[in-house]
Amino acid sequence: MIEFQNVAKTFKFGDREVNAVKDVSLSIQQGEIFGIIGFSGAGKSTLLRLVNLLESPTHGTVQVQGVDINSLTPKEVRKLRRRIGMIFQNFNLFSSRTVAGNVAYPLKLAGVPKKEINERVAELLSFVGLTEKANDYPEQLSGGQKQRVGIARALATSPDILICDEATSALDPDTTGEILRLLKKVNKDLGITILLITHEMNVIQQICDRVAVMENGAVIESNSVFDIFTNPQHLTTQRFIQSVQ
Ligand code: ATP
Ligand code: MG
Repeated sequence: MIEFQNVAKTFKFGDREVNAVKDVSLSIQQGEIFGIIGFSGAGKSTLLRLVNLLESPTHGTVQVQGVDINSLTPKEVRKLRRRIGMIFQNFNLFSSRTVAGNVAYPLKLAGVPKKEINERVAELLSFVGLTEKANDYPEQLSGGQKQRVGIARALATSPDILICDEATSALDPDTTGEILRLLKKVNKDLGITILLITHEMNVIQQICDRVAVMENGAVIESNSVFDIFTNPQHLTTQRFIQSVQ
């Protein structure tokens, strides 16, 4: 479904180079929840940004359903982006739009007729449990509610992949649990493949099927969550595991 093959990303500025991602090869299967964990600066966000073409690799290929996404035409890129929803740590909602307006936004961009947009927005708000908040503005919502809007908006164009960049890092443990349960529902009920990054091992433990551990731009270990917890190979992985015990 998503295949990274020997992917590297180097940022160059002047005579300085940062190897943000180094020779990463990973296969994410359709329908799974795949987690990537690593400390700050490990290269997690850069790796995610390669999937929806916010960055392009310096080396290697990223394939989505067998297609090398860096060989797509601009029109195909727009189509790909509709198939990949994304949510963020800071929610990235439009403060000047209502909850319904935020969720409607990607549908408007895609040229969906107004009546259809209204029906779809109502359906999405019901799915995330925010029907009552449709006409509120983001500033009137709690962090967890804002992330629910983020999820509804990311699902608007019926993507088959949802990418989550530290989606619960700004939330308290109870709210984190609620959002993770919602993500699980997105995965199970809608069959959406989820790729999430986090620096919290308890997030991995709560919802992921498999996990890759990143350090200094490289994947140092990748396995099922069960195997990672029972038989961690690297000191860094052991440190992450100790943080939840
Ligand atoms: P965090 O947990 O703090 O979000 P991360 O694992 O997501 O960290 P990245 O944001 O991918 O890490 O950054 C990896 C490395 O690449 C860092 O050294 C960072 O400074 C560098 N980097 C990321 N984006 C850019 C950019 N646009 N230009 C230059 N360097 C960058
Ligand atoms: Mg990051």
